[in-house]
Amino acid sequence: LDELFDIAVNLGNPQFDADREQVLERARAAGVVQMLVLGTSLAGSATAVELARRHPGTLLATAGVHPHDAATWDAQSARRLAELAAAPEVVAIGECGLDFERNYSSPSDQLRAFRGQLDLARELRLPLFLHERGASRELLAELRPRRPELGPVVVHCFTGDAATLDAYLELELHIGITGWICDERRGTHLRELVGRVPQGRLLVETDAPYLFPRTLRATGAGRRARNEPAYLPAVVAEIAAATGESTEQVAARTAAAARRLFRRGAALPQQP
Ligand SMILES: [Zn+2]
Repeated sequence: LDELFDIAVNLGNPQFDADREQVLERARAAGVVQMLVLGTSLAGSATAVELARRHPGTLLATAGVHPHDAATWDAQSARRLAELAAAPEVVAIGECGLDFERNYSSPSDQLRAFRGQLDLARELRLPLFLHERGASRELLAELRPRRPELGPVVVHCFTGDAATLDAYLELELHIGITGWICDERRGTHLRELVGRVPQGRLLVETDAPYLFPRTLRATGAGRRARNEPAYLPAVVAEIAAATGESTEQVAARTAAAARRLFRRGAALPQQP
């Protein structure tokens, strides 16, 4: 594989401090030629922008405040994110959204931060990069009335059921699939669902350093190995097995979809 696009890499994570450049080299060697570095806080977004600036053509960045960090959202947050998003490396607002499974920030703080970032994506005409866990009903209720004003919207690391997927697809969302699909304990339902995502709206991601693909365990990688973008082909292989395509086909179409999505100027609002 020679043209993969990993749409979710937490490259600023301290787990990569010791060998960040080697991680990028291994990614390229595995055919992962472009990566979107996620911003999950104001400071983390600044780091993501800086990493992207140092690796033009390979790394792009998002600017956002994750639902886990939503308690930090204040009157200055939107303005500071907008300043970060002015960098040409920033191609989406997020990751933002709702996580009612862990509630590291209170649901009301999460809603406040999420609404602020919905407004920002609309104002800046940037794609929206979403995280949702245990909150699809609430997320849909927020998105539905505002959908016509928004450009492209991605739900990353989709792990939900068929009804949730159909509701997301009805709102013309893009769907990101991680190594969750490689997890025989909790991800097998995704193998049946992934074929329902229309061409051009399926994206692949590692969410590294999280979600090490369990199908790689047999290769001798550790039980709780750190994930990295070089392992993205394992996700592609699982999707290809599920849809009956070749890995090359899945790689090419998901990379093309990501390239169309994550470039400045891509996010013109749809007609209501
Ligand atoms: Zn996430």
